[in-house]
Parts: sequence; C-alpha cells; structure tokens
Amino acid sequence: MEKQNHSETELHFAPFYQQLLDTLAAYSLALNTMYVDQYTIAPKKGANRANDATAILSTAAFDLENDPQTVQKIEEYAKTLPEGCLEKKEVELRLDQLTDTKNVPSDLYKKYSRVRAQGQTDWHEAKEKSDYSLFRPILEDIVRTTLEVSACSPRFNPEKPYDYLLDKFEKGMNQEEYDRFFNILKEDLSDLVKKVASSKQPDETLMNTSIPVAEQDEFSNVLLDLLKADRDRVYLSTTEHPFTDFLSHDDVRITTHYYPDMFLSAILSTVHEYGHALFHLQTDPAFDKTMFIDAVGCAAHESQSRLLENHIGRTKAFWQTLLPELQKRFPAFHDIDADTLYHLVNISRPSLIRTEADELTYPFHVMIRYEIEKKMINGEADFDTLPQVWNDLYEEYLGVRPSNDKEGILQDMHWSDGSIGYFPSYALGSAYAAQLYEAMERDIDPQALLSKGRFDVIAKWLEDNVHHYGGSKTMREIVEEVSGKPFDPHIYTKYLKDKYTELYNLDD
Ligand SMILES: [Zn+2]
Repeated sequence: MEKQNHSETELHFAPFYQQLLDTLAAYSLALNTMYVDQYTIAPKKGANRANDATAILSTAAFDLENDPQTVQKIEEYAKTLPEGCLEKKEVELRLDQLTDTKNVPSDLYKKYSRVRAQGQTDWHEAKEKSDYSLFRPILEDIVRTTLEVSACSPRFNPEKPYDYLLDKFEKGMNQEEYDRFFNILKEDLSDLVKKVASSKQPDETLMNTSIPVAEQDEFSNVLLDLLKADRDRVYLSTTEHPFTDFLSHDDVRITTHYYPDMFLSAILSTVHEYGHALFHLQTDPAFDKTMFIDAVGCAAHESQSRLLENHIGRTKAFWQTLLPELQKRFPAFHDIDADTLYHLVNISRPSLIRTEADELTYPFHVMIRYEIEKKMINGEADFDTLPQVWNDLYEEYLGVRPSNDKEGILQDMHWSDGSIGYFPSYALGSAYAAQLYEAMERDIDPQALLSKGRFDVIAKWLEDNVHHYGGSKTMREIVEEVSGKPFDPHIYTKYLKDKYTELYNLDD
C-alpha cells in the first residue's frame, strides 16, 4: 500500500508567535530529557538538585507564556486570523489553556512545580519501603497546592472542585458524566466479573516461569520489531513505573519494568507504552511544538495505548505470532499452543495491582481510584486513614484486600506528580478504543494482518483515521466520525462480555 503523505500541512504563524513556540519547545525538550533521565538512569542522590532545576525551568517557561503582555499580544493575534484555519484553532487552544493559568502567580506556580517534583521522589522512596507515612505529608501538600492553583482559574467552581480537574485531563468531562459512565460499566460487568472469578481457571504455572531480566530485555526487540517500531525515533529503557515521554516529533522514549517471574507484565506494558508513542509519532509532523500536541486529552492518549494493549497485545493472533520466538528462546514454552497461551494471557480474576489487571476487572481498579479522588478533592478525605479507605474499596469492588501499602495505595505514581483526575481517563480511553477497534474491523482485518506480521497496515489505519489529527480534534469527535455513531460505552461492555463469555464457556 502506498504510504499516504500527511506532511503537506504547513502552519504559518506570526514571527513573535513562532518564536514563542520554539522557545517553549526548547524548555519542554530540556524538562522532558531531565525527567526521563531522572526516572531511568540518574543516581538517586542527584534528585534534590534535579527537582530544584525542574521547578526553576518550568517556572521560567510558565512566566514566559503567561506574561500579561504576551497574553494580550496572543489575544490580539487571534483576532487577526481567518475563521476556520488551523492556525486560529491552535492559538485558540492556547488561549483556552491560558485562561486557566494566566492568573496563577509565578511563586505559586513554582511551589506547585517543586511540590510535584518532590512528590515523585518521595513516592519512589515510600513505595520502595512500602510505607505510606513517607508519602502522606507530600500527598496532602500536592492536593492543597493543586486546589490553590485550580482556584486561580475563572472556570473553577468551588462547589464542584473535582469537575475542574476532570475537565483538565479530558475536555468536556465532569463528575456527573463519569458517574453515569461508571454506572454503565458496573451494571453491565459486575455479574460477569463474579461469574468469571468462580469459573475454572487454566493451569497457570507457565505464567510464573522465571525468565532473567536480560533475556526479557532482548525479547523486547522481537516485540518492537513485530510492532514495526522505528528504532531511530523510539528508545526503550527501564523504570519503576512505566511511562512514555515525548521529546519531539522524532524522539519518543518509552519505558518498561521487567519482573523475573512475570514475563507478561513487561510485554503488555511495552505494548501499552508503544501505543502512546505511536500516537505521537504518527501525528502530523507540522503539529510539532504546537498545542495540537499539548492539547491531546488523557483519555485520547489512553485510548491509543489501551487499543494496542487490549485489541492487539491480548489477542490470539498476536501470541500466535510471538510463539515461535518464545519457543526458540524459552524452553518452558515448548509444549504450549496458541489457544492455551491466549487463555493464559487473558485469565480474569480480581487482583490487587491495576497495571497487571486483566481487561475485565481493570475498570473496577479505576473506579476505586475515582472514588478516592472524589474524597480527596471534595475535602472529604482523612489523609491518615486513606490506605484503609483504599483497602476497604478493594474489598467492596473486587473482594480482595491489599496486605501492605506497596500493593495498596502506593502502587501508582499519578498522585505524586499531581495527576489527580487522570485515572478515570484509563477507563474512558478503553471504551473509546473498543469503539475505534470496531470501526477498524469494518475497514481491515486486524487479526489476519497481525498473524501475517503486517502490523504496519494497522498502524497506517490508525495514522489516517486517528493519529494524524493529534489534538486538532477531540477523541470524542474522532470516535464519532470514524465509527459513524455517537460514543457508546455499551460497545465496550459488549466487547468484554462477548470476549469473556467465549473464553470461559459461560453460555448456558
Ligand atoms: Zn498509558
């Protein structure tokens, strides 16, 4: 198939504005490089200096953009741009963001940056020692400072503080919308979760086979080759809690974490992070440095990572394709067939760790965090007893109880960097992914392509239909355009019902 070229888009901004974009992009490149370095290879003791530098550099970028004269200049510039052009759309997205930030005093912003940088350092230590008391003070600080910064926006409603944060991570969302969304998931999936949990499970010995980290690392190359990753633009390294960082259009860093006794973990998390990477790599190159990169919502991004993780990484075709390499490298796989491996990869049962959860129980992990965020942000949380609240919710939603903070409240890094309001976007993103995948199946046969090693055709479909737009459209708009119908969470729940009913032979 001839590769369609999207790079014909050209954006022409006024020189003052282009210079602003270039300078902000330089700060962002420096900050992201420092971030990746700090959480992959930097020695621990350098953290303090690095956190100070992060706060200084991000405040300098913040001041540059939020300078009253600059804001005024941008406002006037927007008026001169013709209606409907991409440049105007970009500038309006920036002004929209500036509405939230332009009244935040520089000192407060610096405090906010410093607190979030420290939050991550403290969280890493607390998690390592499985001791929530080391994280508690900074967590309270993060929540307080987040609210202080939010309150500077005219959009912030003190009666509904969580709405503001939910909207910040995914435009147009609020507590009422998410409540409705999660109620549909609960209603449609709760019984199925229980039914599956009490079903006969396959022999799982293989899943806990010990595979040395170095060998898993080597296997990542097989994986990235299968996904046709352009290694001149993507770099994979290891970290405690996998993330993806976008340095520029041609430089994306993905990270993974190898557990010797859980080879599946690194494979699926690499596929997930590569989903984020691919979205960025396939966004129109003309959008580099613009708001069309920054304005991509979190649910939009998670829809792409979850699409790859679930609809590619957890399918039979995917494991069928990987099996010969697995068998060549690891003796434990010699006698396994693709059907059995497929079931093993999709075993569903209530568990403690979100990132290791199966597709079916996954949204329940998200709901637990959503309930806790509501409490934290709406001023209803006692920070001393949060670990108990967490554990109680796990018992209520999933029937399991963490025995320590590391497998409980400290497992995720999000709150440590101020990403409060992010979690719900994982579930929403998964639901977007299901609707997009259904649309993809109308155009191409992704599973047949995957078993022929043709992930490139799938990536091309994603580029043409989703990725190249970047943030110039919302994911809700893209989902509706591509599928030809309004966003419907029931597509996601039906997909899960069909998949798990078949997998566990639940039909009467
Ligand atoms: Zn993700």
